[in-house]
Amino acid sequence: MYINQFFTEKKPVVSFEIFPPKQTSAFDTIITTTKELAALKPDFISITYGAGGSTRSNTLEVAEYIKKEHNIETLAHLTCIANTPADIGLILDDLQARGIKNILAMRGDLPQDAQAPTVPVYARHLIEQIKKRNAFCIAAAAYPEGHTECASIAQDITYLGQKVQAGAEILITQIFFDNTLLYNFQEKIAKENIQAYLSAGIMPVFSKSQIERICSLCGASIPKKLQNILEKYSEKQTELEKAGLEFACEQISDLCQNKVQGLHIYTMNKPHLAQALVKNTGLR
Ligand code: FAD
Repeated sequence: MYINQFFTEKKPVVSFEIFPPKQTSAFDTIITTTKELAALKPDFISITYGAGGSTRSNTLEVAEYIKKEHNIETLAHLTCIANTPADIGLILDDLQARGIKNILAMRGDLPQDAQAPTVPVYARHLIEQIKKRNAFCIAAAAYPEGHTECASIAQDITYLGQKVQAGAEILITQIFFDNTLLYNFQEKIAKENIQAYLSAGIMPVFSKSQIERICSLCGASIPKKLQNILEKYSEKQTELEKAGLEFACEQISDLCQNKVQGLHIYTMNKPHLAQALVKNTGLR
């Protein structure tokens, strides 16, 4: 099933994001994780794709496994920066052979040891290639605070519009910790007449060092309220996790009141966090 259908039927559409095991030998761990996540009945589960293709086959395997074992739709992430169009063609063949119908198409980031492509590559190019197959529902990444490499949010939104024009029907946002950022972003994309379903990316915070590292990489800002929580519980793991969950639940409740179309929970492969979020907010 194409996941765009959920957005016409449900409000909000609830999805979980997981990352595949780095080694196929660690596949057992993902079996337990997906079983626990599947019990929460998300509308779909997305599976990340490691930079440089390091976990490429595991992304496809996990996506196929979840679909077959749990009868839950999957969204396979795919990046193009380190893949030639011919490589992508083979991956698309593989996805089709495995019955996977939904792709989150991104440029990705250049692996440390890789050479930059001679001609700049963007997600739009990947979307155009996928669209030609007429076999997939395509999602793209969106950045409420702008992408780190872009000179301005306005410019970034212009490029976002190009991704939608090329065939992306769903936009999934990067993490944000202040809902005003999302509401402002929604207004801006509406003004540009960018027509796509929007799913808000929510990450429950459970480690100070981890969230600071993620935010410094992806450019998401940490508001004062969350910073205070991080400082207060920096040495108290259990309390930090509890406070991080409460913070994310408040974010979700407010987003639901404001009729967000989708909630995409970055589970960090920790089903108990996803469970607390969907149960405590009445999503499931
Ligand atoms: P693009 O949309 O191509 O944009 C990249 C940059 O180029 C932006 O600054 C944009 O403004 C600019 N740009 C776009 N078009 C043009 C143009 N024509 N001329 C000049 N500049 C232009 N990464 C992974 O490796 N694996 C994953 O599984 C993964 N999952 C993700 C899931 C979500 C929901 C999100 C939000 C991000 C994810 N990422 C993942 C990270 C993503 O790959 C990086 O943010 C990457 O740097 C950008 O990818 P993109 O598809 O947004 O790029």
